[in-house]
Amino acid sequence: NLSNKLQEVFKQLRSKGVLTEADVKAAMREVKIALLEADVNFKIVKEFIKKVTERAVGTEVLQGLNPGQQVIKIVNEELIALMGSTQAQLTFSRKPPTVFMMVGLQGAGKTTTSGKLAGQLRKQGRSPLLVACDVYRPAAIKQLQVVGKNYNIPVFEMGTEVSPVEISKKALEYAAQQHHDVILIDTAGRLHINEELMQELQDIKTAVRPQEILLVVDAMTGQDAVTVAESFDGQLGVDGIILTKLDGDARGGAALSVRSVTNKPIKYIGMGEKMEDLEPFYPDRMASRILGMGDVLSLIDKVQANIDEQEALDMAKKMRANDFTLEDFLAQMQQIKKMGPLKDLLGMMPGIPGMGKLDLESALNGVDPQKEMARTEAIIQSMTKEERANPSILNGPRKKRIAAGCGRSIADVNRLIKQFEEMKKMMKQMNNMQKGKKGKFPFF
Ligand code: GDP
Ligand code: MG
Repeated sequence: NLSNKLQEVFKQLRSKGVLTEADVKAAMREVKIALLEADVNFKIVKEFIKKVTERAVGTEVLQGLNPGQQVIKIVNEELIALMGSTQAQLTFSRKPPTVFMMVGLQGAGKTTTSGKLAGQLRKQGRSPLLVACDVYRPAAIKQLQVVGKNYNIPVFEMGTEVSPVEISKKALEYAAQQHHDVILIDTAGRLHINEELMQELQDIKTAVRPQEILLVVDAMTGQDAVTVAESFDGQLGVDGIILTKLDGDARGGAALSVRSVTNKPIKYIGMGEKMEDLEPFYPDRMASRILGMGDVLSLIDKVQANIDEQEALDMAKKMRANDFTLEDFLAQMQQIKKMGPLKDLLGMMPGIPGMGKLDLESALNGVDPQKEMARTEAIIQSMTKEERANPSILNGPRKKRIAAGCGRSIADVNRLIKQFEEMKKMMKQMNNMQKGKKGKFPFF
C-alpha cells in the first residue's frame, strides 16, 4: 500500500549523506508512482511532486536531521496542506435549530453516519432529531429508526407517501415544539447522480435552508468519490465532506484528493461501524498515517521545537546582555513578518483592554505598520555590518550614504536610530526590573 511504498523510497534516501538534485528527482519519481497507484487524482499528483521537488532541492538541511528526513519533513508538510491544513469543524446556527442535511449516493453511509453524528452531538449536550426523508424504500425508514433506537435519538418520519420537502418542513416545526436544537435530515440517494435526485435535494435545501449540507462519500470508491463530490458541490453546493469506510480503503486516494479538487473540507471520517468510529478529520494525523513514519515525524517535531526555542533563547540572551544590535532588530522584524500581516496580528491581540478593532484602526491613525516596518528594514539593510553592530559610528556622511541607499531622508535614518536607542533603554530598564527573577525575557 501507499505507506509501505513511501517508506521504501525514504529508506533509500535516509542512508544518503548529502542529497543531490538527482536523488530528489529519483525519489520523487517513485513517490509519484506510489500516489498514482493509490488512486490520487493525476493533476494533484503532478502539482504535489512539483511543489515538493522545488522545496527539497536546494533547501538547507536542518541540524539534527539527515537529508532523507528533511525530504520526509517536506512531503509531510505538503500532504497536510493538500488535505486542508487544519481541522474543519461543524458550524451551528446562531438561532437554533441547526439543520444539517446529509446527502450522497446510495450506500455511501448517510443513514448510519447521521446516527453516529447525532449520538456524538447528544454526548456534547445537544438535543438532536433525526429526520427520515428517504421515502423510496420502506426499509430505509425502518433502518433509521433502528439506528435512532440504538443511540436513543428520536426519529421524525411521515411514512413513504409524503414528499421529502413536506417532511422536512414538518420536522422543523416538530423540532421547535420539542426543543430539539439540531436536526439531521437523512435524504435518499440514488445509484448514480441524476436530475431527479439533484432536484429533490435542491427543493429540500430551499425549504429548510440548512446550516450545512454534508456530503457523505465512500472512500473505497477512490477517484469516483472525488468525481461524485465535484458534481454534488457543483450542482447543489456542499459545506463539508464526510469520508466513510476509510477502514476498508487500502489506497487513500480519495482522502488525498477530495479536498484539493473540490476545495471543500473533509469534516469527518468513518473508520468503522461504531459511533466512536466516526472521527473528526485531522489533516496532520492523516498525513502521518499515510507516511507511516511516526518515529521520524516526532523527531522532526522535536528538531523544529528546538530550533524555535534556540532562536528565542539567543535573542533573549542578547537582550539581557545588552548587546542587542540593529542586526538583531532586523532579524526580529523578519521573524514577526513570518507570522503574517501585522494588522491581523494586532487585531488578534487580547491584551489591550477597552480597545476594540475600530479603536485600533484609529490608534494607528492611518499608519500602515506593514509599510512602516518595510521602511525600517530597508534602512537597516542599507547599513554595513559594522554599522549595524555599532550604531554609534554613524556620522553625517555615513547617514547620508544610508539614506541615499534606501531612498529615505537623513531625518528618517535619525528617527530609526533614536527609536532603536529608546528600545535598548527600555530593555535595560526591564532587565533591571527582572533581575533576580528567572525565566524568559517578556518580549516575545
Ligand atoms: P446510505 O445508503 O448512504 O444511507 O448508507 P448506509 O448508512 O445505509 O450505509 C451503507 C453501509 O455502509 C452499511 O452497511 C454501513 O454499516 C456501512 N458503513 C457506513 N460507514 C461505514 C464506515 O465508516 N466503515 C465501514 N466499515 N462501514 C461503513
Ligand atoms: Mg440511507
